[in-house]
Amino acid sequence: MIVLLDPALAANAAKERELLDTLRALPDIEVKVHRVKGAQKTVTEVYLIGDTHRLSLEDIRTLPGVERVVRVSEEYRVLGRHKDDRRASGFTYNGVEFSQENLNVFAGLCAVDTNENVEAMFRALQGFSQTTTRMGAYKPRTNPYSFQGHGKSCLPDVFTLAGKYGIRVIAMEVTHESHVDEIAECLEKTGKPTGVMLQIGTRNIQNFELLKAVGRQPEFPVLVKRGFGITLNESLNAAEYLASEGKSQIVFALRGVKTNLGDPHRNLVDFAHVPVIKRLTRLPVCIDPSHSVGSRDRAQDGILDLMHVTAQGVVAGANMVLVDFHPNPAKALVDGPQALLLSELGWFLEDVALARETWEKRCALAKKHAAHA
Ligand code: PEP
Ligand code: MN
Repeated sequence: MIVLLDPALAANAAKERELLDTLRALPDIEVKVHRVKGAQKTVTEVYLIGDTHRLSLEDIRTLPGVERVVRVSEEYRVLGRHKDDRRASGFTYNGVEFSQENLNVFAGLCAVDTNENVEAMFRALQGFSQTTTRMGAYKPRTNPYSFQGHGKSCLPDVFTLAGKYGIRVIAMEVTHESHVDEIAECLEKTGKPTGVMLQIGTRNIQNFELLKAVGRQPEFPVLVKRGFGITLNESLNAAEYLASEGKSQIVFALRGVKTNLGDPHRNLVDFAHVPVIKRLTRLPVCIDPSHSVGSRDRAQDGILDLMHVTAQGVVAGANMVLVDFHPNPAKALVDGPQALLLSELGWFLEDVALARETWEKRCALAKKHAAHA
């Protein structure tokens, strides 16, 4: 059960404590308080966990200081959409909005290699007024002898250069909780020239201790990528781990699932799940066409498979696109074969805009038909 407190209560600590004490006194019920920071105000949500079926919705709703009460279903208690659940979704981080309504493109390097390539990437992004990117410093690799990423040593230059080119959010994978501290310390030292969205990779989605640690930190939003060998339900439960620890700034990413049935693509593209996740949860949904397709192959129409699947995801309402680019893919240390060229950035963005326009038109069409129904 979720108890939404009257925002006016925030100004009255004693009254709020009184209400929380009343809730904590309920037998066999655990009380968890979440502060959800929005652009205008902070909303306090209180989660009652345990045998809440015995509680009367009305009794809780009439307690002083309670605005609304939502009875949640078993699945995705914090992130899910529940009956009569009008909680807002989405968030703003470092001036960039993330929601189920808008779209952000995060084009960038799969892995940071040289400062020259990082700067060339940022310069290209600035040329198209892009303020969000991806840059891997900690790379989880299948082979222990492969390049593992430059780690914390590359962070000062990456952050400083990002600031120089007006980059506001960098999606960056962490594979251990110590990486979060390294990122926070480096941002502090360099004067916070940019922001970071922590990425939980597909291989770590059921690393529950990492999820809990990343869910507990209050500073950074989190991009959590679907597990490539587990069900959608299991992946959404992993996202729920983040939320149950207090994280409210979460984006869920589809990146394909591992099966030979997807051949010759690197993974079987799963972007048909974009609307499913938007229906089941309040999370903005990201698609990663690069790790889904894994190549620069194109069909007779001249369009790369990677661009085709991006369009398919965006036409279905995706809210974020995470995509690999590289100034010189042949020299990239990680995932060169799937990287787009900097000279293709304008084409890619224009193609995404076309697909987005189609999604908007499709929404208007659906609305018109719903009105006539
Ligand atoms: C990545 O985005 O760099 C990455 C490793 O993705 P995934 O975890 O989806 O394989
Ligand atoms: Mn990669």
